[in-house]
Amino acid sequence: STAYDIYTETLSKVARAYHQELLNKRNETVLKYLVQQRKITMETIDMFQIGFSPEDRTFLRKLQSKYGISKDDLIRAGVALKKSNELIDRFAGRIIIPIFNDAGRIIALGGRIIGSSTGAKYINSPETRFFKKKEILFNLDKAKKAIKTLDYVVIAEGYFDVIALFEAGIENVVGVLGTALTEKHLMIIKNYTTNILLFYDSDEAGQNAALRSLELAEKMGFSIAVARYIDTKDPSDLFVARGSEVVKEVLKNSLPAPAFRVKYFAKRIDVSSGPGKGKLINLLKPTAIKYKSAGDSASYSMLMRALSEITGYSESDLMG
Ligand code: ATP
Ligand code: MN
Ligand code: MN
Ligand code: MN
Repeated sequence: STAYDIYTETLSKVARAYHQELLNKRNETVLKYLVQQRKITMETIDMFQIGFSPEDRTFLRKLQSKYGISKDDLIRAGVALKKSNELIDRFAGRIIIPIFNDAGRIIALGGRIIGSSTGAKYINSPETRFFKKKEILFNLDKAKKAIKTLDYVVIAEGYFDVIALFEAGIENVVGVLGTALTEKHLMIIKNYTTNILLFYDSDEAGQNAALRSLELAEKMGFSIAVARYIDTKDPSDLFVARGSEVVKEVLKNSLPAPAFRVKYFAKRIDVSSGPGKGKLINLLKPTAIKYKSAGDSASYSMLMRALSEITGYSESDLMG
């Protein structure tokens, strides 16, 4: 078998063992966190093969003999490290989220801290030639059929956002795992659809990321909308606090890109003053011209209408 086969098979065995470990009675509190705090059902835990890597860093050392996996394969798969000639688990004390490529093979793990462990909230497997974060869309393997059928994709930032949206009945959802949406991501998405709904975090960082993603995606010919919601900080929190119906309502009420652009800048400028209005118009004029010269009259009209509404100027005055 190839290096790739060994890599994914090792990860697959490890992920299965972590999944079993999560279901073990001794890790009841971890399972409770997922089921009660994150409102994830057992069925979804199973489908995503969510797991747990015990705090004690010797789980994989023991697994080695049980499954006949070599030390080197575990190290090459990025799940174990060597410390003074002993094997220790990279993901100890973390909830494990397997990352599959679009062919459905495991190519990495994500780990979220839980309990008293210290360190970053999330860690991922190291980048390898088989796992490049900028080229992978979390959950694409399970979502691609629905993306094609529904002819749009929902993009979220985090693992649990994707899982929560899936739990809410949104099957055409993928995640960028904290990195910016890249050209490579968009080229992959183009194989399935040209319609994107960005469901990013509602905080400043999330909204800034939405604007940047939207600009890149528009340049590449996508039609984009952005989910609009307040009070909760991301899709996972929204789902936990308000439930599936509200999540679906938010999706339905998402803002098309032109309207999102106007809202985004209007929120960051004092548009009650004349100079503020002028600033807003100057910021959005290049976009209006771009829409017009691209022959996208629907986007152009929407932008002008939104701008007119906020500034109180007529659309003809705006273009003067
Ligand atoms: P929580 O589990 O508390 O809901 P979150 O998903 O809301 O966390 P964010 O800080 O919003 O966390 O980050 C979004 C996503 O970015 C994460 O789900 C994860 O995929 C990725 N991420 C965040 N921090 C890191 C990190 N330090 N290393 C790798 N990936 C990260
Ligand atoms: Mn965030
Ligand atoms: Mn978040
Ligand atoms: Mn979150």
